[in-house]
Amino acid sequence: MADQAGSSSSHLEINLGEDDYDLIYGAESGWVEAKTHCDHLASLSSDLAHIPIPNTPCNRCQHPSENWLCLSCKVVLCSRFVNKHMLEHYKQTTHSVALSYSDLSVWCFACDSYLDAQLIQQLRPVHETAYILKFDEAPPVRSVESSRPEDKPAMDTPSSS
Ligand SMILES: [Zn+2]
Ligand SMILES: [Zn+2]
Ligand SMILES: [Zn+2]
Repeated sequence: MADQAGSSSSHLEINLGEDDYDLIYGAESGWVEAKTHCDHLASLSSDLAHIPIPNTPCNRCQHPSENWLCLSCKVVLCSRFVNKHMLEHYKQTTHSVALSYSDLSVWCFACDSYLDAQLIQQLRPVHETAYILKFDEAPPVRSVESSRPEDKPAMDTPSSS
């Protein structure tokens, strides 16, 4: 009846530090990469042309600035660095996509990632609207300057007989 307790040789070498660093700053060079695709855009509000102004206070705690705009129901709530009201909102409603009025970045709680608001078509208009509200001018055009060749519809060649 030898109880095999086993030699408890616990060689757990946990390297903390680097992982923590990655969690906070992203894996590469301090820049957190924004996703160019997100599966959670179906619940976006259909009217993102009209959104609250950037310094709208948090709907729950009245925190005055740097809040987030829910892109599903357009409520304005404070960040995780204040009272986490936007995070709470996501947990209660699963509205996962929000726009930051502090730097106009778009965050998806479900993806747990930033989204590229200029590359994702559904987000582009609201990003632009928010930008105009905040800076009073249109965002700089990042894409190709469109010197678009006049693509006239192919003319019907008159069928002269
Ligand atoms: Zn709040
Ligand atoms: Zn919402
Ligand atoms: Zn997502």
